[in-house]
Amino acid sequence: NNILEIQDLHARIEDKELLHGLNLQIGAGQTHVIMGPNGAGKSTLGSTIMGDPRFEITSGSIRFDGEEIAGEPADKIARKGLFISFQNPIEVPGITLSNFIRTAMENRTGKHIRLWDFKKDLTKTMEILEMDPSYADRDLNVGFSGGEKKKAEILQLLMLKPSLAILDETDSGLDVDAVRIVSKGIEEYKNSVGGALMIITHATRILEALEVNATHVLVNGQIVANGDASMVDEINANGFEKYLPKEA
Ligand code: ADP
Ligand code: MG
Ligand code: MG
Repeated sequence: NNILEIQDLHARIEDKELLHGLNLQIGAGQTHVIMGPNGAGKSTLGSTIMGDPRFEITSGSIRFDGEEIAGEPADKIARKGLFISFQNPIEVPGITLSNFIRTAMENRTGKHIRLWDFKKDLTKTMEILEMDPSYADRDLNVGFSGGEKKKAEILQLLMLKPSLAILDETDSGLDVDAVRIVSKGIEEYKNSVGGALMIITHATRILEALEVNATHVLVNGQIVANGDASMVDEINANGFEKYLPKEA
């Protein structure tokens, strides 16, 4: 069964259409890679699935865990178990990393989470990600380095336990140690949560430890090719040229 089923999705920002009839299926617990040239619409796809109100869905359907989510508000979609890690995580002054995650978990489960239990769980998870415990009490992403922001995203992933996580270039611009730790966190998510992954990436390092079930090529707001794990290496060797529209 599919955790995500997108059919003929058209989405626009103001009067500019960015997704032109996109189709994509991701099986429950599977790991899929999305590749595509800059400006193809990869981040737009992630934001549209997550209910970002800047993107208007004009037609098509997005089914998540069997339910239509197109047009639903972002907080409702997150509660259903969808998670996205953005290319550029936003800084939120006045809310600590710890409080942000606890509130998100409470919204997700609809239950009060005892502070003591939460702190224990958070500390243990931060250890996996080699994060200094003091980061829990710092304002969300404020003054964090690029690597620290990405670790904070993976921390949310491990604490929230979504059934589908979209990672938008989570590995871009990170040094080798940060990539190693982020990869370790993603592996931990696969092993302990068993959720599905949609990984938008140009690199291969974070895929090394994962079993990739499928690769999709996104060009000009559409999925133009689908393949297996070997497609990642094929594209890195040969580029996107053969997937681009032919000049008239
Ligand atoms: P990718 O992530 O594949 O590099 P994006 O989804 O960020 O591509 O962008 C796809 C296209 O949509 C680009 O042409 C970009 O300029 C345009 N776009 C993205 N966000 C906006 C926005 N907020 N306003 C106008 N155009 C946008
Ligand atoms: Mg890009
Ligand atoms: Mg992008």
